[in-house]
Amino acid sequence: MQDIRWNTFWVLLLVSFLSLIFWGFKSLEVALFFFISCIFVYLLSHVYWIYRLNKWLKNPNLSTIPNGSGIWEEIFAILYREYRKQKKSKSELTTTLGRFMTAAEAIPDGIIALNQNNEIEWCNKPSEKMLDIQLTKDINQPINYLLRETRFTEYLNDNKYDGTLKLISWRNSGRSFEILLVPFGVSQKLLICRDITQIEKNDSIKRDFIANVSHELKTPLTVIVGFLETLSEMKNEFNVKTLPYLQMMLEQSDRMKKLVEDLLQLSSIESNAAPAEKKEIDMTELFKKLKKDSEFLSRKSHKINMSINKNIALLGHEKEIYSAFLNLISNAIRYTKKGGNINAIWDIKDQKPFFEVQDSGIGIDEKLIPRLTERFFRIDADRSRNSGGTGLGLSIVKHICIRHQAQIEIYSQIGKGSQFKIIFPQERLSLKK
Ligand code: ADP
Repeated sequence: MQDIRWNTFWVLLLVSFLSLIFWGFKSLEVALFFFISCIFVYLLSHVYWIYRLNKWLKNPNLSTIPNGSGIWEEIFAILYREYRKQKKSKSELTTTLGRFMTAAEAIPDGIIALNQNNEIEWCNKPSEKMLDIQLTKDINQPINYLLRETRFTEYLNDNKYDGTLKLISWRNSGRSFEILLVPFGVSQKLLICRDITQIEKNDSIKRDFIANVSHELKTPLTVIVGFLETLSEMKNEFNVKTLPYLQMMLEQSDRMKKLVEDLLQLSSIESNAAPAEKKEIDMTELFKKLKKDSEFLSRKSHKINMSINKNIALLGHEKEIYSAFLNLISNAIRYTKKGGNINAIWDIKDQKPFFEVQDSGIGIDEKLIPRLTERFFRIDADRSRNSGGTGLGLSIVKHICIRHQAQIEIYSQIGKGSQFKIIFPQERLSLKK
């Protein structure tokens, strides 16, 4: 800019100087005429280069940029350099974008970019195949118009981004997909879709195998337990030394029977992916039964208190709900010393019914809480076995909760006690008048 100003200054100075010489030698009119003509020619040359610049800007190309003269030579040189730099970074950006697109296409998972209104901005080929969509046709379409499933719409509108959603595609011959939403940019989302049909098939084979083995074991075990019970009733026929062995055999076969029963219950609940039925459960009756069974399990060694809000009923599968509640109470009894307190509560908070069991027992290390619902996870295996545990109780509770869309919350402090809470969704609440 400095150069341009100086350039103009020198031209004007030269023209003025020449005009002064003319004025000195000839006349004022000639000098003025000379001065104006020079300025006119000078301005005309600028107009010409502005015209060339305008023409070039309409169709910019490195090979057609004018050379210019005077200050315009410099302007066009700067323009040339900047345009070349811009072109280079543009081509680098295009290459990077191209590479990213190729990589996104090579990923076997389906990827869909959604804008703030959940409309499709872009998607890769695997997602088109998995979810039966077509980018050219479905671009800018809201994703929930194409994936018409209530659970998916809820997951999409939830905006929580924790956890995945399993979907069985009705369009894609019953294939199973796992969907994950990841937030990015400003209110945008990335939908990642994975075909889990094979994993689900393997899981189902594993479940069937466990169920079949358990089923096959159940009949001979029932016979063995039956005969052992008969034998233990014939105490007089045995030598005093053999009687403890008989008792041990009876205890161990009872444990095996309980394990087989728990395995059968777990595989039957797990294999049923459909939500549990919504039958109104008489909670007063259920709590009466729970109290009776809890006192039997505790052998009157604990102070068991049960409180129930009689205005709330639950819509669910009675047998499963009873099993889940009894499992939690049974744990509270087994992991609380004699004389300890156990409270079971059925109530409502924020329109959601809940069941809670509090105990004053041994408590659980906070770090281990996330692992409690894993199959066969036990903090102290001996303690669990000796108290008649199988390591499957909380796993059964978890799957019953999944079938009832309920959440489990666990709070515990070592040496102080534990609190297990099952919170049911509002849609499973029935208020009594
Ligand atoms: P188990 O048959 O071993 O009790 P569960 O699945 O019911 O199996 O529980 C898993 C583990 O969680 C138990 O082995 C125990 O260590 C711990 N646990 C469960 N409930 C309680 C409780 N109320 N207090 C302390 N520990 C508990």
